[in-house]
Amino acid sequence: MSDNKKLYLNKIQFKAELDRCLNCKTQPCMHACPVNCNPQEFINHAKTGNFDAAVKTITRTNPMGQTCGLICPDKFCMQACTRSRVDFAINIPRVQATILENFRTADEDYSQIEPKAKSIAVIGAGPAGIAAASVLAKGGYKTDIFEADGQIGGALNLIPDTRLPHEVIEKDWKFISDTPLISLHLNTRIKDIRELAVKYDGVIVATGEPNTARLNIEGEELCLSHMEYLHHPEKYITNGRVAVIGGGNVAADCAMTAARNGAVQVEMFVRRRLSDMKISKSEYLELLYNQINISPLSSPEKAEQCEDGLLLQIHRNRYEDGKVTPLSDSSVRLPGFALIIKAVGSYADDKIEDEKIIYAGDCKTGGSTIVEALASGRTAAFVLIEKMEKTA
Ligand SMILES: Cc1cc2nc3c(=O)[nH]c(=O)nc-3n(C[C@H](O)[C@H](O)[C@H](O)COP(=O)(O)OP(=O)(O)OC[C@H]3O[C@@H](n4cnc5c(N)ncnc54)[C@H](O)[C@@H]3O)c2cc1C
Ligand code: SF4
Repeated sequence: MSDNKKLYLNKIQFKAELDRCLNCKTQPCMHACPVNCNPQEFINHAKTGNFDAAVKTITRTNPMGQTCGLICPDKFCMQACTRSRVDFAINIPRVQATILENFRTADEDYSQIEPKAKSIAVIGAGPAGIAAASVLAKGGYKTDIFEADGQIGGALNLIPDTRLPHEVIEKDWKFISDTPLISLHLNTRIKDIRELAVKYDGVIVATGEPNTARLNIEGEELCLSHMEYLHHPEKYITNGRVAVIGGGNVAADCAMTAARNGAVQVEMFVRRRLSDMKISKSEYLELLYNQINISPLSSPEKAEQCEDGLLLQIHRNRYEDGKVTPLSDSSVRLPGFALIIKAVGSYADDKIEDEKIIYAGDCKTGGSTIVEALASGRTAAFVLIEKMEKTA
């Protein structure tokens, strides 16, 4: 078993989770999974000690099974898990990550694949691009992945190492990429997608959401974007107070990182209610455990420099019938922050209409989750293959 006790299940926990599975014939866990991974099947294989088969079951539809196992939110398979009606859901993602960490011994087998004469370009090596490339290579299509960054993983690289070490992303990548059918071109930003569409038989655009959403407040330039902060947290280490604006899992990662890096106090300002925060229960508990203050129904109005650092002015909101409106005369001036981080979302570049171009992942659907981006990348690849086969 892996030494990394925090990220994977130990032998006793692993066996306990396998034993708790009710082997539901209707497979609700599989139907709830965007990539149709089949926990009932891999748990059964693992129970009988057939770990090769368990690995094959997971990797059949999920090219980033180990990464998913560490960060997949509990709203898919776990929410559907029948065991939650008895006590609590099987920790399916962790079972999956533990199986791949300990029992994956070989890479994807492409030996039976017949290469096709067509070649595809995939832009972006985040989960959607990786999933698309995996389906295309399994179909025999030569696939060039162009990635602007110097490493694969896309937005996953912003997730703190304590939740997702980069080596896990590389391990999943190594599993699918050991074939001449896939070529990765790092540090290659594509400026003209149409030009690529002329050279290739099809293009899958999986460029995520590279632009940070604005707060549109006075003094916004004093606030750091979540992308800059999470890319280089070492540049912004402080033992002062840190404000984080936003209430999703990106904001939670910023808050946790600041707390871990020594901030004396971290406060999250969330526009809606606590129950509206888009974070999992375990993330919420982690915020509480790390003594992160959460101010719900609070919106920023202004940031400014003050004597002891940065001042954030906020107002309070009223919540009624699902609507959030500002409460009048509720402005509060909060001085003394060392950092104000904005983590209120991001957005995609404009899209191009072209027969040969298909969009996938967050740039198509808006901010989602790893498993939804994987599903979207797979679907894009299947759609493209069908199109190419029709015109062959
Ligand atoms: C801080 C943070 C925490 C998160 N936590 C979770 C979590 O706990 N669980 C979860 O399920 N999801 C989480 N997510 C969301 C998840 O990471 C994304 O949904 C997923 O990565 C989207 O995949 P994608 O492939 O569509 O886009 P991305 O991962 O954004 O990948 C897009 C890639 O395209 C590249 N690119 C962009 N433009 C170009 C260009 N012109 N040329 C070449 N390459 C280009 C980018 O460099 C990038 O590598 C988190 C995201 C963030 C930012
Ligand atoms: S829903 Fe839960 S208990 Fe039922 S087979 Fe899936 S993992 Fe096992």
